[in-house]
Amino acid sequence: MPRTLDPEFRRALAARIRYYNEMGIYDFYRRPLSEPEKTTPSTDEDAGTASGQSTVAVAATETQPQGSAAQPESSEEMTPRKAAAIPVPVVVEENMFEAIATKPEQGVSDPVKALKIIREDLGDCTRCPLHKQGRKQIVFGVGNPKAELMFIGEGPGADEDEQGEPFVGRAGQLLNNMIKAMGLQRKEVYIGNVVKCRPPGNRTPEREECDTCSPFLMRQIAVVKPKVIVALGAVAAKTLLAMSASMAQLRGRFYDFKPAGVRSNDPDWQGCKLAVTYHPAFLLRDPRQKGEAWKDLQMVMKELGMKAPAAGRY
Ligand code: URA
Repeated sequence: MPRTLDPEFRRALAARIRYYNEMGIYDFYRRPLSEPEKTTPSTDEDAGTASGQSTVAVAATETQPQGSAAQPESSEEMTPRKAAAIPVPVVVEENMFEAIATKPEQGVSDPVKALKIIREDLGDCTRCPLHKQGRKQIVFGVGNPKAELMFIGEGPGADEDEQGEPFVGRAGQLLNNMIKAMGLQRKEVYIGNVVKCRPPGNRTPEREECDTCSPFLMRQIAVVKPKVIVALGAVAAKTLLAMSASMAQLRGRFYDFKPAGVRSNDPDWQGCKLAVTYHPAFLLRDPRQKGEAWKDLQMVMKELGMKAPAAGRY
């Protein structure tokens, strides 16, 4: 019988695979534990039957210590030696890698169908505590499934929870105005959130909630294949970029972005640009920052080859 991994270990393994994915490495293989590599099981449980036991070989780059001195980060390069298969002695449940590397929408070229598959996969989600904290419904995402521009917010508020659509409340009205000011219509872009269930009292989603839900967002991004993503606010920016920094540090530049843990169907889509701007809810509280946000949007328009409208009022 395949055995279930310890959740901590599973998370660490998933993070490791995501890391490899981010470097463009998707293909992992498993091989049976060969005699010379056999490691002593740490518990009786680890010494499972032949059907449940295997060594995971991760085809990926890994730095090997060179002599006794640790190499400085800047000197790390991908060499054939470093790219050798590294056996990780662990018993894994069946389909551990398939679950992470291959998604059911893989191979579905129609983005409408592919998004539907992701929504079905999400189901009546109970993966994180938000499902039992008063959500009315899951708020998946809305807009053009082939959009060049995607806006990503934090998570649904009360209005979104009520209507099942992102950004339909006051912050949504402002986002609509921002989109209009760019010379676009809401239906031309795709809008999603990091978490798909309303956090109670509109609190900021917890890190673990973001980590649990964001793989679905990554899959949506891989299907839509935008040219540019605008992360609205710090939660979206930090989750998508997997980094922690202030808004001042995050804004004002583009990042090269590839959704973690997924591969697009389209080999020509090698990721997109990502810009960070203020969340519309923040702009409602501090409208003096709208000028700054408009600068971010102008940068996006330039990247998309759009002509800036005369007045950027919203
Ligand atoms: N704020 C968000 O981050 N997302 C929404 O959908 C609505 C408000």
